[in-house]
Amino acid sequence: MKLYLDPGHGGSDPGAQGNGLSEKNITLDIAQRIRSILIGDYRSVDVRMSRTSDSSKSLQQRTNEANAWGADYFLSIHCNAFNGNARGYEDFIHNTLSDSSQTARYRNVLHTEIMKVNQLSNRGKKKANFHVLRESNMSALLTENGFIDNQRDAALMRTASWRQRVAQGHVNGLAKAFNLKRKEEDNDNGSGQLYKVIAGSFKSKANAEQRIEALNKKGISCYLDSLMISGELWFRVQAGAFSNRTNAESQLTRVRNAGIRDAYIISD
Ligand SMILES: [Zn+2]
Repeated sequence: MKLYLDPGHGGSDPGAQGNGLSEKNITLDIAQRIRSILIGDYRSVDVRMSRTSDSSKSLQQRTNEANAWGADYFLSIHCNAFNGNARGYEDFIHNTLSDSSQTARYRNVLHTEIMKVNQLSNRGKKKANFHVLRESNMSALLTENGFIDNQRDAALMRTASWRQRVAQGHVNGLAKAFNLKRKEEDNDNGSGQLYKVIAGSFKSKANAEQRIEALNKKGISCYLDSLMISGELWFRVQAGAFSNRTNAESQLTRVRNAGIRDAYIISD
């Protein structure tokens, strides 16, 4: 599955602004999180981004690139602004499409999964004649993740854990809509070699459980493992086990980006 992932705006175009935030930065951060979860957790998914830094790119360039690449799906990430009072989440497909179109069916799945986790009020499924929806040859969706000029929504946007949740919601929707297969965990490649991502070791079980809860909130699933080291019982937080070293390393990056700087990999 080839995903063209488009963080809205960038460079000289800040997008919507409010509460000290610029849309271009929020959309880039969410999109980068979407990419890293997809690449970390799923196989057979190829992600190309319209931009990976604060750079300018025209709408025409974005759709040309997706069309030339032959993307299967165009996903554009945005945040909204209106009068300060409006808030919530909405998404758009092109206004010529019927509710029974393939694009609408994909959207239904993404909309549901995103709403499950984003803590925003639901403004519904909408249609519009936006450039990226009209000029892209493949199914396309544009999501508006909260209102940057609304105090409550902006407070959420400011937190990394919210941006991670929103990214995870998009990924969950993509995985369902396109039937993406998870990378095998705990399976072996014949050698029996397993790379475990360890997100902390604790003497206290309660502390280990706290760490697990904090990571789960950021969309990283992990579990408790206990082991004896030199006659002492330790509790270890394990964020996945991989037969492939590269997959373990991308998971390690996610865990470190979630604030666990001292996470590491052990091989069994
Ligand atoms: Zn926008």
